[in-house]
Amino acid sequence: MEDNEPYNYIEKLKSHLGDEMETLLRERRFAYPRQIELHLPGDNVRACNFHCGHCSGKNLEKRLGNWEDEGIKMLSVLEDRIPWHIYSGIYTEPLLNPKLMHFIETTKANFCHYGLHTNGALLYLREQDENMLTRLSQISDGEDYISISLDAGFSESYKKIKGINSDAFDDVFLGIQLLSEKKERCGLLGPNIRLTYLMGSENSSPLELERAIKKAEELDVNSIRFSLPFPPQRTQVYPSEKSEIISKGKEIDFKRNLEYALESANPENVEVIYADSQAKTYELMNNFSECWFPYYQLTIGADGCFYRCSCSDDKAAGNPRITDINLELEDIKKIIAWSQEGCFSPQSCLSQGIMCNRVGLTLNGLCEGIKKKQKAGQ
Ligand code: SF4
Ligand code: SF4
Repeated sequence: MEDNEPYNYIEKLKSHLGDEMETLLRERRFAYPRQIELHLPGDNVRACNFHCGHCSGKNLEKRLGNWEDEGIKMLSVLEDRIPWHIYSGIYTEPLLNPKLMHFIETTKANFCHYGLHTNGALLYLREQDENMLTRLSQISDGEDYISISLDAGFSESYKKIKGINSDAFDDVFLGIQLLSEKKERCGLLGPNIRLTYLMGSENSSPLELERAIKKAEELDVNSIRFSLPFPPQRTQVYPSEKSEIISKGKEIDFKRNLEYALESANPENVEVIYADSQAKTYELMNNFSECWFPYYQLTIGADGCFYRCSCSDDKAAGNPRITDINLELEDIKKIIAWSQEGCFSPQSCLSQGIMCNRVGLTLNGLCEGIKKKQKAGQ
């Protein structure tokens, strides 16, 4: 029950950048990142259909742009140079976007992989409207994945956590069940189905965790991953206290409850993963001298601006916008070079209450180590 393969970011970066990785990072040479993360702008009116208390983007301005056509064109111009396309959001739900399937089909037409991060409530509906699950099952290759935030074992706690009154919990299960069935029926590998579960005081009793694990097994998903919520960005507390909020939580209790739940559920076919808290985020970030995250990822925020990472999605003054570039490969390369420039300091994120996510922490830590090795002449 440890964090492992699908979440091993260093291995992923190594396999993308190859044997030259250390040299390339040390010398800050240009490289296409491993992935581009696209925060599709909801349905252009609503950012999301839920109101989760733990939402990382709840303090952001939540700007939405109209840039989907340019985004799709950009993926075609890039061909397979950036091999992974991640459809996600910090305050937006990708399944709300009418052009999501068009994006994913462009990804696959260019021989790339996709990851879709969703709350899952609209999976069922989109199958009914446009056969989305059938189409996804037909075009996916087993490496592609759909990550669904389950976050509860019972409908009542689900409603509280997601800030809704409806029975969307059942819709999520219906959607996952249908997706599993479609995969089987197509006889193809289909997308990996991963459930995620953010633990908090409302959803972490042994009974509730056991129910979620049993459901995961019943639904034939590949994995379920338990973790603690990332503190919302731009929280009005001093950043060091933000990490304390998480570390002083009930992490030990939660972990013990999860162990009890695992003993009773005894899952055989689903991988159960646990990711430790990010309690040391502030201390770690304070020691970072540069940000290397854009070697892993380039981000387009819901407002249509490019970002160095997915943690901040507003206050983009001066950030390039997708609607302003000519969509020639050379223009896209300039944006990537802008994101990878070495003078960007993590301290400027900290000063605005913006903290690295798990991937950013891991990769910036790796690069800081490479830099120290260089200084030591090794
Ligand atoms: S579903 Fe995701 S984007 Fe929507 S409110 Fe919840 S955490 Fe935020
Ligand atoms: S939050 Fe972290 S990963 Fe994101 S730009 Fe700042 S330093 Fe880089």
